[in-house]
Amino acid sequence: MSTAALIVAAGRGARAGRPGIGPKQYATLAGRSVLARSIDRFSGDNAIVAIQVVIHPDDGPLYAAAVAGSRAPLRPPVLGGARRQESVRAGLTALKEMNPRFVLIHDAARPLVPAEVILRVREALASAGGAIAALAVTDTLKHAGGGSVIRGTADRAGLWRAQTPQGFVFADILAAYQAAHAAGRDDFTDDAAVAEWAGIDVVLVPGSERNIKLTTAEDFSMAERLLAAAPDVRTGTGFDAHRFGGGDHVWLCGVKIPHTSALVGHSDADVGLHALTDAILGAIAESDIGEHFPPGDPRWKGTASRVFLEDAVRRVRARGGSIGNADITLICQEPRIAPHRQAMRQAIAGILGIGLDRVAVKATTTEGLGFAGRREGIAAMAIATVVLPAGGTVAARP
Ligand code: MG
Repeated sequence: MSTAALIVAAGRGARAGRPGIGPKQYATLAGRSVLARSIDRFSGDNAIVAIQVVIHPDDGPLYAAAVAGSRAPLRPPVLGGARRQESVRAGLTALKEMNPRFVLIHDAARPLVPAEVILRVREALASAGGAIAALAVTDTLKHAGGGSVIRGTADRAGLWRAQTPQGFVFADILAAYQAAHAAGRDDFTDDAAVAEWAGIDVVLVPGSERNIKLTTAEDFSMAERLLAAAPDVRTGTGFDAHRFGGGDHVWLCGVKIPHTSALVGHSDADVGLHALTDAILGAIAESDIGEHFPPGDPRWKGTASRVFLEDAVRRVRARGGSIGNADITLICQEPRIAPHRQAMRQAIAGILGIGLDRVAVKATTTEGLGFAGRREGIAAMAIATVVLPAGGTVAARP
């Protein structure tokens, strides 16, 4: 179920009004190019395995400079056309050889798209042919005929402002673009419009006011102010221990490891994920795993502990935040952790929706000391950072 991102950066962006800087997607925004920032947003999502950028034929050197040293999973850039629709079709065609299950199409000029908006579009594709980020229209809309005199007031009920990313089943949106091209239709201004024309059901998911499209010099100033506002970074710690009992495997950090005994617990007793869940809950001061998932509650009997961690991640996202990094230390004489460390990091990165370079799993023995040393059980400690939007959270709970 692979997902690719297609970033459209082929426009000329003449309206940005920054003479001498060239196309706006290569302009510097708080020390980093607009395009590099857009790429960062998608490479930060662990589920996105490839990023295809569509560039203007004149911009090869600008593109090379913008992505120099990038660790993003970038495919070679492809050249776009005169209209956005042609550029997207070129990008989709280039992705054919990879043939991803899903594609998220994004305008390079929206470099501040929050991680949770990308995630919402991506997750909506599990049950929809297409999904786009959008915001309900809250301003009253006026018709002004040809001049500045109002001719009428439009009904804003049911009206939404479309943003990007716009996500689709890859094969379907590629077919839609090809059909539109064959039919001589080149007037669609976004991907959802092409999909709608082709009969694909497209759903709306909440976008963000932060997800501004840089068009004017004023937009650049606003984006710079948003980036200058210091994010609200929190840290939390967690600790857990479980005793050994009868069994032939243990669950540690989301990985099943054959062993001569099992860890005893109400759930799968994954001490690593329990400690990490508490660290994340601690960072947002939302109590602990035992309160949200009481050990006496039959609903959680035998539950895979990833469910608890996913719940903590949802709580962070509900505040418009994301996980910065996670660091876990397992404390045991046995089993040996090193052979499973990579799989553990991958499992955790997948649940947190962050890159592998933000997840550490370490292990130590206690040189035979204490309960872990006597092989009576396993303990784990964890620390996590959570990055919340500057200027307060969107859904703070008491
Ligand atoms: Mg526990």
